[in-house]
Order: sequence, then C-alpha cells, then structure tokens
Amino acid sequence: MDKFKDECGVFGIFGHTEAANMTYLGLYALQHRGQESAGIAASDGELVRISREMGYVADVFDEETLSGLPGASAIGHVRYSTAGESKLLNAQPILIDCAHGQIAVCHNGNLVNAKELREELVQAGSIFQSNSDTEVILHLYARSKARSIDDAIVESVSQVQGAFSLVMLTRDRLVAVRDPHGFRPLALGRLDRSWVVCSETCAMDLIGATYERDVEPGEVIVISSDGLKSVKPFPPAPLAHCIFEHVYFARPDSYVFGRSVNEVRTNLGRVLAREQAVGADVVVPVPDSGVCAAMGFAEESGIPLRMGLIRNHYVGRTFIQPQASIRHFGVKVKLNPVRSILDAQRVVLVDDSIVRGTTSRKIVRMVRAAGAKEVHVRISCPPTISPCFYGVDTPRKSELIAATHTLEEIRDYLEADSLAYLSLEGLLSAVDTQHGSYCRSCYTGIYPVEFPRDERQYLQLALKEIVAS
Ligand code: SF4
Repeated sequence: MDKFKDECGVFGIFGHTEAANMTYLGLYALQHRGQESAGIAASDGELVRISREMGYVADVFDEETLSGLPGASAIGHVRYSTAGESKLLNAQPILIDCAHGQIAVCHNGNLVNAKELREELVQAGSIFQSNSDTEVILHLYARSKARSIDDAIVESVSQVQGAFSLVMLTRDRLVAVRDPHGFRPLALGRLDRSWVVCSETCAMDLIGATYERDVEPGEVIVISSDGLKSVKPFPPAPLAHCIFEHVYFARPDSYVFGRSVNEVRTNLGRVLAREQAVGADVVVPVPDSGVCAAMGFAEESGIPLRMGLIRNHYVGRTFIQPQASIRHFGVKVKLNPVRSILDAQRVVLVDDSIVRGTTSRKIVRMVRAAGAKEVHVRISCPPTISPCFYGVDTPRKSELIAATHTLEEIRDYLEADSLAYLSLEGLLSAVDTQHGSYCRSCYTGIYPVEFPRDERQYLQLALKEIVAS
C-alpha cells in the first residue's frame, strides 16, 4: 500500500525474571512500526547476549532463541527499512564491546548529522559494521573519555542531532533517551517492580504494565539496581512531536504524546466532516488506516458508516514484493469491495493520507466498479508535500503527488467525483490546542531541525546510499 512507513519500534524492561519473553511480547504489540527485522538483547548482569534476524517477530523468535537470552533486563527493536537495505547487519539492537564494557542500542528516529559525524569518526580510525545512522552513537560512546558509563552515554547522545528515541542496555543498566524536540514517542511504565520503556503504550497493555509517564523530550533516564535516575543534558529546544504518529503511525489503542490516538484520529474525521461536507448515502473507510477518521466523519455528518471495503489481514508483505506480475494484484488481494453496500450509492471514501496516489486511484476504481454512483474522497490530513528527515520513510518530493499536482489534478488522477483534505488548522485543532508543539514539516516543508539544503544528500536514505556506492 502507498503509505509513509515508520522506521522502528523500541522496547525495554529492567528487573523482570522473564525480561526476554516480555520484550518478545512487547515487540509483538509494536510490529506495526517495523516488519523487516526484529531483535532482542538481554543481560544477566554479567553478559549482554543478542539475537536478531530478518522477518516478523513471530518468525524471528521461538522458545529456543528466547531461552538463549537469560537475564532480568532486555531491550528489543522492530525495524522497517527501504528496499535493498534489508540487511541483517542493519537490524537492531546493535551490540558492541568497548572500554566502557558492552552496550546494545535500539533507535527509533533519524539523525540528521550522522553523515558528518561518521566521516569524522572514519577519519579518526573508526571502522563501521553497518550503514545505519545509529552506529554513530556507539562509536561516539566507545571513544568517550568520560569516567562513568552514564557520563559516556550523555556525552555521545549530546553530539547527535535529529530524531532519536533510544533504549540502551549495558551489563547492569537500562537507559532511555529522547531527543530534545521529542519527535518520536517513548513511554515509561511499571510492571510490578520492573520498569518498562516502549514506543507506544499498546506494548504495556499486552504485558499488563501500567503507563507512568512519557520519557520527556531531552531526558536521559538511567535505570539500575540503584533505581531510576533522570538527567536533562540537552539545551532547551522547541517541541516537535511527529503529528503523523496521530494521523497514521501509532496504533489507535495507544496513547502517544499524552493523548489517545483513537480519540485524536476520530476527531480528525469530525473536523474533516465540518470542513468538507458532502451529500452522500454512505461513509466508507479505507481499512484499516481510515477507520477511526471515517467513524468521526460519519458521527459528525450523520451519514451512516458501512464497511464497504474488506481487508484481508492474512496477506504478508512478501506477496507484493518483487515480480511485476504479482504486484499487479496487490490492492485487490488486500482489499475487496462489498457490492451490497456500494451499489448505486453516493460514497464518501475516507482515508488518512495520499502519498503517490497510485493506491488511492485503484481503490476509487474498485469502489466504482462495485456499483458506486459517486465517489467523494476525503483525507484526514493536509496534502503531504515534503519528505520527512526524522525517521519516517517517505518518497522524494518529486514522487509526492501533492507536491507536484494541484488539488484538481489529483482529483482527476484519482478519478473521484470530489476530493478534499483536512486543513492544517483543522489538523492542529483536532490534535491539540498547543499548536507549537507538533512537527508538521511534511505538510509545510518547514523543518524544525536544520539540515543542509541538499535534499538528495540529506534524505534519510543518504547515509545508506553513500555507503553502498
Ligand atoms: S516531517 Fe511529518 S512524518 Fe516527519 S516527523 Fe515531521 S510530522 Fe512526522
């Protein structure tokens, strides 16, 4: 499907006799944040062991691999990567052994100064094993002359810029770090006497943990047998929570940035219905991405909600991979129209975003072929006109249909009777009243953390491309 892709989900637990098993479950709940690889590192107090593979969490781990990860603390990671970069070397956690001892790291986000730091480190003699930006942090850590592990961690993360929600594991401590802008979520909770850190609260729900609070932007939390220690070593920076977490990435049963995703997403649909009303017989969501917004749209407009498209949940990503002959069937295999709902109806088709427009066009055609008299497309966020540099896989600007086409041209391309997006004001009002606290760069092209203006070099893929060439 033609969607932005989140790059990662992270999980960590400290002080639990079944730390690796709990991490496995936590990653299961975070699978939507990355499906290319999964990994766990666990410490028994003496040694940090690691297991990571390409594939889904359920495929990567079994009883045998989990029993090979003993200890009361663990961290885990699920990763999405772009085509051609699905290499095991880039899977996380990344584990190293250095003068400060062993350390494993899991990262959600993207470092905008990784390329420069990497070049400096290579000049100074560092040898990189992967082409992931995350490895830069470990090299900085290994080279730190700080006397304590905690100080070395703070020194290394203070040198990177961009988006980073990190969980780190040493022999005897779990560390959680969130960049000062707070781009990506990171939540802190308790499970009896243990501490839990994870990208989304849905992972806590699964293991029966209780959400305590978010790891604050700019906060470094060190959890050890001495308890929890919090420091804020970064200079203050404007908040820039990724608004797309609420629009699309996060699971609706999660709380991110202190707000219920379901509530926000339903709100987006309510505001959209007020802003872009249309006479119609039925509201149909594009499942699963458009469901919450469609519910809000139906509630606000009074038009009944019907599941006119059914999603096959058992289609693996492998189905839409390489062969063009198979890819041709991609959307049809994932979605099937319900003729009895759509036939002779004026349909409001609700989805959360349009990236290239290719999938949306197929869906409009599918709905019309099932008998719909009119198809009115309503999108629960503004047009996406600019790429993300903070941990989300987006196409280049030239491939984003809203960056290169007018609204009428997009409507024409989609073959819809009408097309309307939620306004930026509408989005911000639905998410929060504190408009200043969200990153919305993919809708505005204005970026809260500066990067050199050579987009080709600084797309998040740049580091990978440079290393590969
Ligand atoms: S550019 Fe868009 S996707 Fe990226 S962090 Fe900002 S809001 Fe999120």
